[in-house]
Amino acid sequence: MADLNTESAPLPPGSTIGILGGGQLGRMLSQAATRLGFKTHIYCPDEKSPAGEVASKWTRADYMDFEAVAKFTMAVDVVTYEWENIPVECADAVTEAGGDLFPGRRALEVAQDRLSEKRYLKSLAIDTAPFMPVASDEALGMAINVAGLPAILKTRRFGYDGKGQSVIHDEDDASIAWEAMDGTPAIMEGFVPFEREISVILARSAYETCLYDPAENEHRDGVLRRSTVPASISKSVCDEAGFIACKIAEDLDYIGVLAVEFFVENSGHLRVNEIAPRVHNSGHWTIEACRMSQFEAHIRAIAGWPLGTTKRHSDAMMQNLIGEEATHWLDHVKNSDASLTLYGKKVKREGRKMGHVTYLKPRSD
Ligand code: AMP
Repeated sequence: MADLNTESAPLPPGSTIGILGGGQLGRMLSQAATRLGFKTHIYCPDEKSPAGEVASKWTRADYMDFEAVAKFTMAVDVVTYEWENIPVECADAVTEAGGDLFPGRRALEVAQDRLSEKRYLKSLAIDTAPFMPVASDEALGMAINVAGLPAILKTRRFGYDGKGQSVIHDEDDASIAWEAMDGTPAIMEGFVPFEREISVILARSAYETCLYDPAENEHRDGVLRRSTVPASISKSVCDEAGFIACKIAEDLDYIGVLAVEFFVENSGHLRVNEIAPRVHNSGHWTIEACRMSQFEAHIRAIAGWPLGTTKRHSDAMMQNLIGEEATHWLDHVKNSDASLTLYGKKVKREGRKMGHVTYLKPRSD
């Protein structure tokens, strides 16, 4: 088992990277690891796995099957995850079996509950949307009185891509939103009147930290639609976003790629929307627009390799291909300005991310 600390040697090519989670992020991590000469072993419970299809090995088992987790851990040299909702008990089973887990348990624990995430950010004096926990109808009423309307009611856990959340404009919306929660612990957030949304992708190893240029993100129905780089922000906003991302990574003693999503207000004031302890959809443009992609950066960081450069050589626009949009793959292939990535998913569910396409332009800044 590799011991990654400041004195340990880099993991040699030919070693096996274990990845918890089998989605497209695991697939692209696996592809980047393979390019660097590593083998990958995917662990996920799903019958179909975009990542499992491109890995050397795939264990299909439940995250709470600790015997299977221990066996997987002993078969690999380092363990990482591509999904922030991996149960912390599964992370513990990795370390109890003697495995090295990067990023560590704390990042997972903080990021998988919106309330702990916001409280954690507050403890670092980092601004977020105003928030209040909501565990009852009365608490929702109180939260509205304090934070005002409009507001957003969100499930504390398992919310992503706008799932498990409703915007509340008035009292009627409030009771409908609360009923839809069906008793699930929730958090109410004040609606941030943001000018734009950006994200920072950071890579941190035991030795160094580097930042990619912030991307400007457009969402549709809570799902990321498009990321554009460079973002239309001033240098001071860019620096401040990078400073905040570094502050979080340092505090978590983070190893790997971390994504921090921000709301940028008219004044330039930044509020963190959420953090993702993993490679991120808004960093897919780095595959084509940088010498080292976010996926390679993550693999280098967890393997104890030098990080290389996060420098961007081109402007980029990445667009997600959602549901039926992926059926137009041939149009993208015919366009010589476009780079197409498909995730190998066979079922086209509405709202499902099937792939993405990136357009490059000569660097303008
Ligand atoms: P989330 O899943 O929490 O990242 O939310 C998805 C998207 O919904 C965000 O990227 C924003 O576009 C929007 N959103 C979420 N929370 C807020 C908020 N408190 N104020 C304004 N917009 C929000």
